[in-house]
Amino acid sequence: MNQQRMQALAQKPTTAKETTQDPAARSEVFGKSVFNEDRMLRFLTEDAFKSVKAAISAGTKIDRKIADQVAEAMKAWAMTMGATHYTHWFQPLTGSTAEKHDAFFDLLPDGRAIEKFGGSQLVQQEPDASSFPSGGIRNTFEARGYTAWDPTSPAFIYGKTLCIPTVFVSYTGEALDNKAPLLRALHAVDEAATAVARYFDKNVNKVIATLGWEQEYFLVDKALARTRPDLVLAGRTLLGQAAAKGQQLDDHYFGVIPHRAFQFMKDLEHECMLLGIPVKTRHNEVAPNQFELAPVFEEANLAVDHNQLLMDIMDKVGGRLGLMVLFHEKPFSGINGSGKHNNWSLSTDTGTNLLSPGSTPMKNLQFLTFFINTLKAVDTYEELLRSSIASASNDHRLGANEAPPAIISIFVGKQLAGVLDELEGVSKGKLSPEEKTELKLNVVGKIPEILMDNTDRNRTSPFAFTGNKFEMRGVGSKTNCAKPMTVLNTIMARQLKEFKSEVDALIEKKKLRKDEAIFNVLREYIKASKRIRFDGDGYSDAWQKEAARRKLSNNTNTPAALKVLTAPDTLELFGSMGVMTETEIRARKEVELETYCLNVQIEGRVIGELVYNYVIPAVVGYQNQLLQNLSGLKEVFGTGHKKMGAAQLSILENLSFHLQELKVKIDAMTEARKNANAIGEVGERARTYCESVLPFFEEIRYHSDRLERLVGDDYWPLAKYRELLNLK
Ligand code: ADP
Ligand code: MG
Repeated sequence: MNQQRMQALAQKPTTAKETTQDPAARSEVFGKSVFNEDRMLRFLTEDAFKSVKAAISAGTKIDRKIADQVAEAMKAWAMTMGATHYTHWFQPLTGSTAEKHDAFFDLLPDGRAIEKFGGSQLVQQEPDASSFPSGGIRNTFEARGYTAWDPTSPAFIYGKTLCIPTVFVSYTGEALDNKAPLLRALHAVDEAATAVARYFDKNVNKVIATLGWEQEYFLVDKALARTRPDLVLAGRTLLGQAAAKGQQLDDHYFGVIPHRAFQFMKDLEHECMLLGIPVKTRHNEVAPNQFELAPVFEEANLAVDHNQLLMDIMDKVGGRLGLMVLFHEKPFSGINGSGKHNNWSLSTDTGTNLLSPGSTPMKNLQFLTFFINTLKAVDTYEELLRSSIASASNDHRLGANEAPPAIISIFVGKQLAGVLDELEGVSKGKLSPEEKTELKLNVVGKIPEILMDNTDRNRTSPFAFTGNKFEMRGVGSKTNCAKPMTVLNTIMARQLKEFKSEVDALIEKKKLRKDEAIFNVLREYIKASKRIRFDGDGYSDAWQKEAARRKLSNNTNTPAALKVLTAPDTLELFGSMGVMTETEIRARKEVELETYCLNVQIEGRVIGELVYNYVIPAVVGYQNQLLQNLSGLKEVFGTGHKKMGAAQLSILENLSFHLQELKVKIDAMTEARKNANAIGEVGERARTYCESVLPFFEEIRYHSDRLERLVGDDYWPLAKYRELLNLK
């Protein structure tokens, strides 16, 4: 009999012998392992410092001599911190991060040993990274891939390694990662938003996108998780009878944090502080063993890097404490899954949040401008935005019975909707002095007041305005935020560019004043983007019907959601905004589809293994015990055994029924997989996986979960829900 589960249950939990000291003032250790501005000031010459600063703020190139100086300074600092190696740290299309360490150690021609790190190693590397997915880019062009330093995200020391954030591109310059397109999108939105922000304040020279993510996750005991190949290989349970008690009593949400989880959070937050990740909030989430962590928001590229790094730190800290961290969007059936809300806004170098109203009518008109342009951008590109959060694992939330729906809509709240309704009535062309005064005092002027009590938050909305930012709620807990942030900032850049040219045209051709022109264009946008606004219950059937009537997309699975990526409008958008070429987009789509197939394929294989190697042997073992019991009864009581053993017989029949069904379904699923694998075109293959393989999973699970209920507890080899979801 498989004893692993019993042993795991008997094992004492690993508590940290010595958890890290949590200093009273976190600010004292914040960023200690980061080559930040303070360190640069101390370790760099004035020229080098200025050059790096210019590269960060204006994207200027750093010349070789300066790069040498920066590298030398980084090395000197890193060595004082005990670092022995350096790595270019990048984000290939696998969704996670990659690193390949090199020692500072080197030999001089005469054989003497030195520690070396020069500008050329800092600026560019050619890792032999040929096994990362490239969607064909590296077959058609040069096979080589390069990593190149991204000075906008500071280097940091992780373990004993100096990590240098980099982009990963092909020899011909195509992006092979998630960071390069994000940087281009951030550049595009900077340009477009700065031009518009200057209508309101001539001092604005740069606009940055800000991102505050909220990371949800599950913690489970590692020894127990290891009894389950599904958790180990697929990151989620593919079988498993729900525990009698799940989240029904709502007793986990914001509850007292369990001791082991608290230790985890404390250690995790300490590491985050050292690495300059400004984590601030922690709490229990709705499902048992589910938690959330959120930082103070940051510039989007840095925030994305920090989130990627965070997930890695979480794995490591969890490992030390005997915990497995589950980032999967739906690790357990029947209880809530996990997401990663992306709070997003735009902010000027003069310190203004462009999605926050201010104290003057001009500031409020500025707010309205950016707010309404966001509505318009999302309305035009809702399907593209949906595609940016599509994945096999996130399909279990979006489009399933989980928050939020696959239909993108925007929640603005009753009061703001009222303002938009009034603005819709603004006269065409020039405005009378009376109308202007009325707008100033009673519409625009009232906005700050209105937003103060804009409290009716709608948790079912996938894209909600929350007072001074938008919150994108459909992002998966595993997803690299670079993907939705690339799309959101690109569509915003496009929208703002269009807005600017329309306003300028009205000023020039119709001789309207600036604010008149702005009101005129905004009025049309409000009218045009009405269908994207929805404040009702996003989970209701009524909304599904209404959204269909409004012709909003409702792509409930990844193969369907990704279609739009290669639509002519999408190619034109990314191309003209300088974010991605057609080759890059096609490559990405192919990688996403391929990844989808592989994920479903792996899950299918794991289910097969679970059923044949775990479930069936457990059932047969238990059947044998019942049969033995029945033979014993027969021996002692003769023909009376049937009556006496009626319960056993009935259980045996039940076991046999579900066992038969299980085998039939597993074999049919395997056959369906074979058929899917034979399809060459990846889009068609993904569709087939989605439509003909995936549906078997639930059917198989049904029979297996019935068997779990029937089979004696000590026969069952896989850790059960009630055990996994109860941190000891
Ligand atoms: P909640 O929405 O849960 O009430 P907050 O409003 O404090 O909490 O913010 C939630 C998240 O939104 C945090 O991660 C926070 O850093 C982020 N956030 C706040 N303001 C902005 C902004 N201007 N841009 C981006 N993210 C922001
Ligand atoms: Mg939350």
